Amino acid sequence: MPALSDVLTALDTLWPRERAEQWDAVGTVCGDVANPDARVTRVLFAVDPVQEIAEEAVELGAELLVTHHPLYLRGTTTVAADTFKGRVVHTLIRNGIALHVAHTNADTADPGVSDALAGALGLRVLRPLVPDATDPEGRRGLGRVCELDRPVRLSELARLAADRLPATAQGIRAAGDPDRPIRTVAVCGGSGDSLFDQVRAAGVDAYLTADLRHHPASEARAQTPLALLDAAHFATEWPWCEQAAAELDAVSDRNGWGLRTHVSRTVTDPWTAHAASAHDPSAHTTGAPN
Ligand SMILES: [Zn+2]
Repeated sequence: MPALSDVLTALDTLWPRERAEQWDAVGTVCGDVANPDARVTRVLFAVDPVQEIAEEAVELGAELLVTHHPLYLRGTTTVAADTFKGRVVHTLIRNGIALHVAHTNADTADPGVSDALAGALGLRVLRPLVPDATDPEGRRGLGRVCELDRPVRLSELARLAADRLPATAQGIRAAGDPDRPIRTVAVCGGSGDSLFDQVRAAGVDAYLTADLRHHPASEARAQTPLALLDAAHFATEWPWCEQAAAELDAVSDRNGWGLRTHVSRTVTDPWTAHAASAHDPSAHTTGAPN
């Protein structure tokens, strides 16, 4: 049974803290790190460090929770349990659970968040969309440029994404001719509408990401025939949890730690319902009369 500090060192090796963006807050958020008696048997991986997930870690008997999103991105002056983040901290500490975050340092890792997203859809990764200049092998970076074994129609790709990613209220929004053949796809787990210039430069047929806003999406559609696929932010990042757990499993096997890793299936997408009008324009793509 490894010491907590040894497992945290392994996490820092997989996702070095210095590779996170300047504005980010990654690494260990809470945990009895300096205590040599603090041991880890079970680790839970999840996207969001919310109360539901903290309680899931308690029920599981985990001593370590690893999340993609930070609990505190900016400073705080309180961890009082009547604040929602403070309650998470109290729940974790009271139950002897450490919290560790791998965020933008996991986005750009090799493999990273977008590799997991591409893998979930069975896309072949060709290269990073925005390569990390410090990686001589050119494998790290933000987003991925991918290809399909054979072209599929945009409507089929949207269906594939809906089937392979966790189900959310939003589902998959698509923009473009549903019959357009798609062979190359740029993907970016999480909010990706700041990368349209790089997506256009990559010359791909489609872009799959999350949180696409009206104006960037509208401009991208007007300038190129690029098809867009927009999934829930949570859904695009969740596949990383399985990938990350498998990476820690491999470390555990190499060291004979016998760690038991778990991936949360709890959907923490904040959107919980979706209403489609009877006049839903996507219902008209088959050419049915209005
Ligand atoms: Zn995110």
